[in-house]
Amino acid sequence: MCGKMCGRTQAIPSFLNSELPPQAARSHYTMNHDCNNCGNPASKRCSGCTLSTAWYCSGSCQRHDWVEHIFQCNPRRNITTTDHLALAVRTNLFPEDLQTCKDFGFAKAFSVENRSKLLGVYIGLIERIGVSPKTIRQWQQHGSLVENIKATFSTIPERSRGGYYPWFLDNQWILDSSVPGPTEDPVDAMMMRSWRYYRGGANRDTIEEIKAEMSNWPEEKQASHLLCNLILSQLHPSPDLITWITFGFCACRDEAEEKILARWYTTLIGQCTFEELYHAYDSSSLIALFDSKGVRAGTETIVHLEEVLKGSPREFKSVWYLKQFVMAQGEEYSKPIPSVIVDYGFMNCYKSEEETTLLKDLYSQIFSLPRADPVQLHEACIQGKLYDLVSRLLKLKKKDQKVLKRLLKNPYPLPDL
Ligand SMILES: [Zn+2]
Ligand SMILES: [Zn+2]
Repeated sequence: MCGKMCGRTQAIPSFLNSELPPQAARSHYTMNHDCNNCGNPASKRCSGCTLSTAWYCSGSCQRHDWVEHIFQCNPRRNITTTDHLALAVRTNLFPEDLQTCKDFGFAKAFSVENRSKLLGVYIGLIERIGVSPKTIRQWQQHGSLVENIKATFSTIPERSRGGYYPWFLDNQWILDSSVPGPTEDPVDAMMMRSWRYYRGGANRDTIEEIKAEMSNWPEEKQASHLLCNLILSQLHPSPDLITWITFGFCACRDEAEEKILARWYTTLIGQCTFEELYHAYDSSSLIALFDSKGVRAGTETIVHLEEVLKGSPREFKSVWYLKQFVMAQGEEYSKPIPSVIVDYGFMNCYKSEEETTLLKDLYSQIFSLPRADPVQLHEACIQGKLYDLVSRLLKLKKKDQKVLKRLLKNPYPLPDL
């Protein structure tokens, strides 16, 4: 007898025959192996395997595992997008393969919510109703996916169809380009989401009315709305947005820390109104708001978050703008702002364009060093000791040393008056 996973695949439907994994061969070795599927002692080795080796206790375990094992084995046929779909269904994870996303509608189901509902429809079809991936592949190839999904669900009682099928009926445009989709584009949908938060629930305003009203708002209120817009759509500001600095994302050491901060904002938005968030931002008291809601109570810390947010949205050390200049990719930040030009030596780069590139690359390396600290860089800057710090942090090439000594000069420390 093998483990619990085996029970539901004991009877392998005959349509799977041509899809069967290579026959498992009984081994001559006496070494102990665990079944790849159920973990019980296994004596049969997958005969298709070349590099990796998979062992099974029984044919039914091998057939059950084939959905996943086909990706590690040496299958006799090409891997299809339906194999990726079957894997997604088995693991309950969105498919990542691009063609699979196109073939089965994930490419058009923009939001996480829509993608999980779509996956739910396929889970229902394959795991609950028992339609084989091979059949789904035929539907897809004949362009009859939508009508067959509807025909299949209509054969089971309405109360057993689950919650994903009604969603599917309303969203057939995801799989069928002849069905008109919602007129709302994804950017408008994001806007609507944050506008509902702003209004505190229901919303009857159109996108045009929203834009007209927002155009009269102060800059800080617009920035707060943009942050909510991103956070509520499970995104966060990139270095190409000024909100990356003003909401403290620049203080994060890497993408992982940016995700922590995004999670804190998600929690915050769940616990306060838009007005509270906006006023905290506008009065440099986001940290106090975070703490009043217990958002930062865990063990995670972002070292310089307080340093950045205490002056936001009006006062920042120029080092954060330097970091943005180094990290942003858009045209808008292709040149440093005046305070960065003066503080970090770009004003000395008049001999050639390469000098600017050299300096930019240098700072880029520094920001990627785990031991380098932007606030330490700022302190070296105001003491006029940029070169000292840089040469301690990086092993500079001989030929660059002389150039950098000149480029890293700035007017600091300022003389006492
Ligand atoms: Zn087994
Ligand atoms: Zn194999």
